[in-house]
Amino acid sequence: MRKLYIDKKPAFRCLQFMYYYKVCLPLGIDKDFSYSSSQRIAFGARVLVPLRAKLMLGICMEELKAENYRYKSVVEVLDEAAVLPEELLEMAKWMAWYYHCSVGKALFAMLPSRLQCDVDAEASWIGTDRDIPQDYLILYEALQKQDKLKLSELKQSRPDYPVYRIAEAAQSAGYITLAHRIKHRDKPRKKNFIETTGLDFEENDLPLRQREAWELIKTQPESPFLMADISSLISYSALKGLVKKGIIRIFPKEVQNSGLLREKGSGAKDITLTDEQNQAVKEILEDYGKYRVHLLYGITGSGKTEVYIEIIRKYLEAGSSVIFLIPEIALTPQMLDRFDSHFGENLAVMHSQLTENQRFAEWQKIKSGDCRLVIGARSAVFAPMQNLGLIIVDEEHESSYKQDNVPRYNGRDLAVLRAQKSGAQIILGSATPSLESWHNAQSGKYRLHRLKKRPMNYTLPKVRLINLCDMQNPELISDELAGAIAERLERKEQVILFQNRRGYSSFVQCLKCGKLITCPNCEISMYYHRDREEMQCHYCGHFYPIPRRCPSCNGFSFSYGSPGTQKVEQTLKMLFPSAKLLRMDSDSSRSNLKSMYQRMKRQEIDILLGTQMISKGLDFPGVTLVGIINADISLNIPDFRASERSFQLITQVAGRSGRAEKTGEVIIQTYNPEHYSIQCASRQDFESFALEEMDYRKRLNYPPAFRLARLLYQGIDLGELVQEMDRLKRTFLPPESDDLIILGPSPAPFAKINQLFRYHVILKARTTSQIREAVAYIEKGFQAQKGISKQIDIDPMMLM
Ligand code: ADP
Ligand code: ZN
Repeated sequence: MRKLYIDKKPAFRCLQFMYYYKVCLPLGIDKDFSYSSSQRIAFGARVLVPLRAKLMLGICMEELKAENYRYKSVVEVLDEAAVLPEELLEMAKWMAWYYHCSVGKALFAMLPSRLQCDVDAEASWIGTDRDIPQDYLILYEALQKQDKLKLSELKQSRPDYPVYRIAEAAQSAGYITLAHRIKHRDKPRKKNFIETTGLDFEENDLPLRQREAWELIKTQPESPFLMADISSLISYSALKGLVKKGIIRIFPKEVQNSGLLREKGSGAKDITLTDEQNQAVKEILEDYGKYRVHLLYGITGSGKTEVYIEIIRKYLEAGSSVIFLIPEIALTPQMLDRFDSHFGENLAVMHSQLTENQRFAEWQKIKSGDCRLVIGARSAVFAPMQNLGLIIVDEEHESSYKQDNVPRYNGRDLAVLRAQKSGAQIILGSATPSLESWHNAQSGKYRLHRLKKRPMNYTLPKVRLINLCDMQNPELISDELAGAIAERLERKEQVILFQNRRGYSSFVQCLKCGKLITCPNCEISMYYHRDREEMQCHYCGHFYPIPRRCPSCNGFSFSYGSPGTQKVEQTLKMLFPSAKLLRMDSDSSRSNLKSMYQRMKRQEIDILLGTQMISKGLDFPGVTLVGIINADISLNIPDFRASERSFQLITQVAGRSGRAEKTGEVIIQTYNPEHYSIQCASRQDFESFALEEMDYRKRLNYPPAFRLARLLYQGIDLGELVQEMDRLKRTFLPPESDDLIILGPSPAPFAKINQLFRYHVILKARTTSQIREAVAYIEKGFQAQKGISKQIDIDPMMLM
């Protein structure tokens, strides 16, 4: 345990030497805050400082020269040593500079929330009453008088006692609990569980639906189990029937956060690398131990992960540490399983499903050096590794590497920066590299390695394009696709169907008066969610029950917009009533993901239907058919990356098929069979796609030809916003040139979200420094009126 240190009142205050420090606070404003302290403070340590009437947590950044400063003094020093290593402090400064945010915001994005101490926390004593360590006595005595105590009140009455530091230590040692003012999201939640009662009954007497439900329930590996695991397969009324008969019980129970999703057991496969894989490993290791960016472009299923594993092993054996970044949705039990079986004890995992305490435990294992390999999503780029030798960014093209609140960083780009600063090697891997990385590989800035084949002579799937324009009555599921599904069901093979739109339909419109049901906050059409009989806005989340009658003309017949997964699910149930079907989208529960993986592996699911949640990382040998219900959904989005994103999605989904001996098939339904995204994706031909797409980006000065920045202004009053935008346009925009193009201010494609009207300015510049200067120019001159908020997004992923 950490040694505690209690400040003693200095006897000779006049002789006291004072130190002065710059402290970074998690505020939006870019301003320096300076404080004095009688005690030396490590850079990267947490301190509590007064700001106006409040106390705030900050991070000590640098020492200021001792002059006759009259700064307020630091109230408490929480750490003897830095909690963030120097490398990360430097990175935070760089982030502030590059992304135009405050250093404090960047630092706090790196700090586990468990260390973001809450000054208004309330303590309660839960430890024993005997043998209390000396340091905790003041806290103990105060808590004898009252059950709960605000730390800030204790601080007021005992200003010299290091209240917060002691409280943190006492909490870790199990003497007190701290209730936080800010409720954290990962509080335990209650969910419904199902348990069998053991009642003796005649299965054949059950009505059909209940018998089906019972079949499913009795084959569940665990009891009790989460109702959500089976709820998309059977109706609630069938379950209620079983409850009435006393066959099962349904009861709510608190669920633990599913923790490490790790699946023990399957063990490492014995794999001999193919020539291509060996070649890639050899080439990459030529740069062993030094900074260099490698782009590993390998088609889906070509065995990139095996290449990573080989190289990671080399670094771990040599005593270095490794960061492996992966998009959250690709962080499947399957992936963890593979890493666990290779690196076991050395592995720390960071993902959003961990509780605050679990996350902190993993973080400490990394900091202490107990774990030298971390696998995690975006923020794992801030893992407090020492002796970093290697960073890998898998699926480097993924837009989820970009954080969509301040600091708006891209995890992949920071990974490159971190590798550079610490002299580490870095591998970016993808079957569909981003054009930015591809461009860097073409220009020789990155070193390119290719995996063009699947191992073991597994072949790429055969692809059929179905032109929906040719059909008389375009159906959701064409006869060809239905026929192919039926064949697989017959042969007991598995099918994955992809529809990248959740809900039942994208809008509901009155047939009589044409009224479209729209969101009151966003003025865009709302999605119909049939399972809950609700209308829901996919931008702000607002929902209400589906109206029985048209709110404007009282009519009662409606037309429905483009179909979502729920509609596809309904159609499939009609076409293949006996098939075991599972729908996976962000409406289905999180725990479903784990059981989905197990049940797919055990071949208990015939058809897996889902959104992009199922497009990545999944590797099921039983899947021989992938159907894309409508390939045009992402193509029609008004954004310059629409073609790229469509290409990526289709290629990735198609890559789920034929990952074993049996040849796979892919059927793509589309209204745009000639579009280059769809053509190239159907051939898994990234290079031709990149060539064509690059041409378009150059013509329109989009990345990677140009750099982008976007300034978004939002306000509740449209008139005021327009006025301010006029003022910005007239006086505060930098002069345009061949190297700097300015679009707007103009309404954003989503002109209103969540009651706020939205305008943006898009800047395109040839170089990083030009884009920085242009943003700084506006920042320096233009201050929007109160009530109008501003967001700066450097290298935005979307311009919606
Ligand atoms: P990627 O990450 O490129 O999509 P994976 O690394 O997941 O590909 O590999 C796809 C499948 O091929 C996995 O099941 C993996 O175990 C298997 N595989 C990879 N390399 C080999 C090899 N050299 N020999 C046999 N199987 C391999
Ligand atoms: Zn809305």
